Amino acid sequence: MLASSKTPRWIKAEREGIHLPTIDWWIDPSRPAANALVTHGHADHARGGHGQVWATCATRDIIALRYGTPTGGRDLDYNEPLDIGDSITATFVPAGHVLGSAQILLERQGERIIVTGDYKRRPDPTCLPFQPTPCDILITEATFALPIFTHPPIEREIARLLAAREANPDRCILIGAYALGKAQRIIAELRRAGYHETIWLHGAMVAMCELYERHGIEFGALALVSEASREALKGQIIVCPPSSLNSAWARRLPDPINAMASGWMRVRQRAVQRNVELPLIISDHCDWNELTGTILELSPEETWITHGREDALLHWCAQHQMRARALDLVGREEDDTG
Ligand SMILES: [Zn+2]
Ligand SMILES: [Zn+2]
Repeated sequence: MLASSKTPRWIKAEREGIHLPTIDWWIDPSRPAANALVTHGHADHARGGHGQVWATCATRDIIALRYGTPTGGRDLDYNEPLDIGDSITATFVPAGHVLGSAQILLERQGERIIVTGDYKRRPDPTCLPFQPTPCDILITEATFALPIFTHPPIEREIARLLAAREANPDRCILIGAYALGKAQRIIAELRRAGYHETIWLHGAMVAMCELYERHGIEFGALALVSEASREALKGQIIVCPPSSLNSAWARRLPDPINAMASGWMRVRQRAVQRNVELPLIISDHCDWNELTGTILELSPEETWITHGREDALLHWCAQHQMRARALDLVGREEDDTG
């Protein structure tokens, strides 16, 4: 419970991230900080150059892979409270977004604040599910915060993908998928759907898939596209970074059916712009119903909204007599992680 109707003095939303000013700790800071609590490994949340980095084991491994090993801080288990000074504790709670992703619960003298980072409410075979956590202030992402964004069941999108492959034995399916999270989820979901053939990877996907495997996620047979002949890739499924769709690299593939896995594929124009023939609406973020459902479920005293379409969610909160405000964090642009 908040001690007064005013924002607690020990937390401040600044342009560079969420700041705990009494101890000068930051959450997902966009510039180098002495002490950074990091929700997950995507580049708009995890940057290089911090002093101490406190994150889950998988997130610290991802940071090490991208920027080199952090100099200080340590791995935190989920639900392990960390005393960070000024009577504040930080606890990492599963966010269901990508491997290692966490919400951060900040507590001080009975006041509870949740920083969700990015999250989703759908099951994902590559990470632990979102753990709803009661709080006074909920700081939520709003990437897909418009009622038009409703993500279909992933089973439906995977079935469309497999049907396209079945119908086109002389072509390959080339899926553009973000290298951290999306790519691994697609592979795991293909396996769950009973697809057991080799899945082919662009070279840029390999290191992150291996990292997931070291953390116990199983993918079955994966191989590098560069090791296969054009003929051998007919009727096969290939996963590449979104930037490699329509690239010179893709030209040696057998008549690829361009697919792209993203929540943005709900917007037809986005698929057209990227020359995507098979848009797959697969997102690692909440859709509109998941966002509003989470706010209703947790019913915090106040909701702070960041990176996305704040206006629609602000309006929705007002309609439901819930206090809300939009934050103005820098560097949280929409991108292919969607
Ligand atoms: Zn993210
Ligand atoms: Zn994000």
